[in-house]
Amino acid sequence: MPELPEVELLRRQLERILPGRVIADFECRKPKLCRLRGIEAAGPGELVSRMRDLLVGRRVESVDRRGKFLLWGLTGGLVLAVHLKLAGQIVVVGPDGRELARGGHWAPRPGVPLPHRATHITFRLDDGSVVYLTDIRQFARLTLMPAGEVGPFLREFGLGPDGLREPVDAERLEQVFRRRPKAPIKAVLLDQAVVAGLGNIYADEVLFATGIHPLRPAAGLTRPEVEALAAAIPEILSRAVAEGAGPVVGDRAARDNGLPEVHGREGEPCRRCGTPIRRLRVGGRSTYFCPTCQPLSP
Ligand SMILES: [Zn+2]
Repeated sequence: MPELPEVELLRRQLERILPGRVIADFECRKPKLCRLRGIEAAGPGELVSRMRDLLVGRRVESVDRRGKFLLWGLTGGLVLAVHLKLAGQIVVVGPDGRELARGGHWAPRPGVPLPHRATHITFRLDDGSVVYLTDIRQFARLTLMPAGEVGPFLREFGLGPDGLREPVDAERLEQVFRRRPKAPIKAVLLDQAVVAGLGNIYADEVLFATGIHPLRPAAGLTRPEVEALAAAIPEILSRAVAEGAGPVVGDRAARDNGLPEVHGREGEPCRRCGTPIRRLRVGGRSTYFCPTCQPLSP
């Protein structure tokens, strides 16, 4: 699943390409990826043609982000919210066939010609560039709505503060942790109401950075530990953006240096102390940690 730093990197690429461009055509081969909110459609069979009618001819004015939602601001007061979910990918190809932007899941891999058989959505832009949305799992979602619907739409997802844009408040974290006395800290950090966009990889990294074992009960953390977590969350996420969001492919960290420092590195020596990194499962998710730097009983 693309994590917050990857979505932010994709947003920054799209922000250099899309604003000012007019959507010249829109195709969707999987209507279930599309939604209209606050806009009438005659029936499910009409959804894609209605969406196409609404999108074609509109200029993209901005590319914003809230949590892992990319928000394309369009002329005429419409907003297209794009969420890549588990396995969505966006690639933009320029009029000369050169790749201008890429983000999301690594399927298809770079070099595979687009459109791929799982490329369900295509936007053609007025300068001849093409935006491809490929999703092998078909969970990605595009929601077109009037700008006034964006607030209520996002509130339905109960997103917490954005870990890259808003400071994380230790007081608030502590309150959230107390409400879930038995839950392991790793599981609580994955709750999007705690911090929007903190996913499996960076939750592990934040715990490593603060020396907290992933299985410790959230409610048992000391105040200094909670303060350290609150500080580490934006720090690690910004570092991930700066480093290009260290890729993890098939649960393995794809490069030797930079982030992630523990996630996807089972058996590799901890960079701080040399102890082999271990893996366990918390709430069904692979969790990586250093048993020396992150003791279970501090
Ligand atoms: Zn260590």
